[in-house]
Amino acid sequence: MSGEPASERRGLLLVISSPSGAGKTSLARRLTADHQGLELSVSSTTRAPRPGERDGREYRFIEPAEFERLAREGAFLEQAEVHEHRYGTPRAPVMAALAEGRDVLFDIDWQGARAIAQRLRGDTVRVFVLPPSMTQLAGRLHSRAQDAEDVIARRLGRAKGEIARWEDYDYVILNDDFETAYAQLEAIYRAERLKRVRNPWIGALAKMLIEESPST
Ligand code: 5GP
Repeated sequence: MSGEPASERRGLLLVISSPSGAGKTSLARRLTADHQGLELSVSSTTRAPRPGERDGREYRFIEPAEFERLAREGAFLEQAEVHEHRYGTPRAPVMAALAEGRDVLFDIDWQGARAIAQRLRGDTVRVFVLPPSMTQLAGRLHSRAQDAEDVIARRLGRAKGEIARWEDYDYVILNDDFETAYAQLEAIYRAERLKRVRNPWIGALAKMLIEESPST
């Protein structure tokens, strides 16, 4: 996205949350595909892979005992229980990205969003994605057809609790039309990326410009 040296660029942590089925995963994947400097954080989870999911791509699928061990060792930046399974954001890749000036995108729930914002406040931007209606949300969960009926019913029940957290977020996007929602998400990313505090190299340039005598 920019040509300045990585050390002169401060990494950004972009967190996206929404109820299941509101489209945040598609939005997140498109944004990382379109922006080379932005990588997706791959969480660890104790839930089973869905058809088509691959270990290390959507998640690292691990046993509860392994999750417990990693949690004890402090390997997670944050962890939460969602839909009766445990999810955790590996700490090391995030800290490495920040140190090297790279940006990280998180597709995590409100608990994770809050924990990361508390730990790394100045570096974190939170975006919440709303579905246009609960009927649409139910429709999307059914058409996805990856989960059993009882799982879908539970997810719908929890969706309201997730939506109730909307005020925690810096930005709220309505995902009625995917392209419109994506354009808004991309605008947020670009503007947050351009913030002065994330571009310390500007200080040196400004100093140079002030001191320079134009040779006209
Ligand atoms: P799913 O099982 O449908 O992929 O994800 C269930 C929920 O867990 C989603 O809201 C997802 O964003 C959230 N989630 C995924 N990974 C993490 C994580 O590492 N930490 C937290 N707090 N939530 C996560």
